[in-house]
Amino acid sequence: MSDIIIEHKKIKNIYIRVKEDFNIYVTAPKRVSKEYIYELIEKRKDWIEEKKKELREKNIYDISKKELVSGDEIYYLGRRYILRVLQNRKEDIILDRNIIYMHANLKEKDEFKNIDIRRKHNLLDIWYKKEALKLFEELLKKYCSIMDLEINSFSVKKLKSKWGSCDVSKRHITFNLELMKYPVHSLEYIVVHELAHLIEANHSKRFYNIVSLYIPNWIKEKEILNNFFKNK
Ligand SMILES: [Zn+2]
Repeated sequence: MSDIIIEHKKIKNIYIRVKEDFNIYVTAPKRVSKEYIYELIEKRKDWIEEKKKELREKNIYDISKKELVSGDEIYYLGRRYILRVLQNRKEDIILDRNIIYMHANLKEKDEFKNIDIRRKHNLLDIWYKKEALKLFEELLKKYCSIMDLEINSFSVKKLKSKWGSCDVSKRHITFNLELMKYPVHSLEYIVVHELAHLIEANHSKRFYNIVSLYIPNWIKEKEILNNFFKNK
């Protein structure tokens, strides 16, 4: 199911990594052939499966239990960022290369630690939501046009047990805010999934045939996303 992404570099050894998107990333010296790399991957099949299992169990996207201190890893649209928390009365969140700067008005005293943690989570959620509203609006526009469908409205919130829902009679779609930690292609799958419910209400064979038309690789997206609720 994984894609294999090969990059040739001026190096001596071959490196194989499995990343959060469940794809296999290979860095190899320039002279190494594709065939050789594929053979090597085949030989290391068990190790690759083990890595995938580890990723599934680790659930890197879930930050709900983190204290959100400088150095924590946070995901935004499938990319990893390192958190830097800075005391500031004017609160905001700024992305700069691989760093996510959080300016937060914190008490910074032991007895208020939990209040500070909640404040930081809240700040992040507000920021994720602001970005989510823009992004889902774009994605809905794109796929409504491709699939020739119309909706009346959508919303983004924290959902406890699903990625999205579609109220067919109101033509209203709800997305889970947690999606903002995942790669955009996973979000596109959820957008298409919810829109497809306007054509077919149940998760029938016909339903997934419709989804396949627009997201041929949907099983992989499902694999990336599934993991989240399983580990909660
Ligand atoms: Zn569904």
